[in-house]
Amino acid sequence: MKVGVLSLQGAVEEHLDMIRRCGFEAIKVKTIEDLEKVEKLIIPGGESTTIGKLARIYNLDEVIIKKGREGMPIYGTCAGMILLAKEIQDSRQIGFNLIDIVVERNAFGRQVDSFEVDLKIEGFAGEPFRAVFIRAPYIKKIGKEVKVLAKFNGKIIMAQQKNILVSSFHPELTDDLRVHQYFLDKNL
Ligand code: GLN
Repeated sequence: MKVGVLSLQGAVEEHLDMIRRCGFEAIKVKTIEDLEKVEKLIIPGGESTTIGKLARIYNLDEVIIKKGREGMPIYGTCAGMILLAKEIQDSRQIGFNLIDIVVERNAFGRQVDSFEVDLKIEGFAGEPFRAVFIRAPYIKKIGKEVKVLAKFNGKIIMAQQKNILVSSFHPELTDDLRVHQYFLDKNL
């Protein structure tokens, strides 16, 4: 299986590396042609406004939305989660509306730039997951179809709606492959 990482801006290389370590072929997605070659897509962390603007310029947003609606599995980390959301709180920024969530950007405070915590993720056996947060958003509201996979301090920070998976944190910055394995091995 070929898996794509949206490569407009942000933490691209780390995701490519995780995908390869899970045993799959990984390619950078910069154009609509690239997107046609992959079965699953990861939208990385970075700056959601920048990634969103670039996606618009290259017309990639329309095709991502179309493919997501048709059932292509898409995983968004951090800025990627913001882009996939139905609504971005207090913002004119427009989400791809592929998952029925309202997100708040920089929700842990701008001062608290980054932090790490041990998380319990629903359905993950073994050790807790060491999660890295960088100017992270959280999920303020979810629709009926959305399944919560993890919370931190009572805030939802990982969720799934059918083929769409999102997390506030960055599993690609750890050595733990479990989130990527969950996304890649499963028939989401
Ligand atoms: N704060 C960034 C945004 O709003 C997200 C940060 C990240 O992806 N690490 O887009």
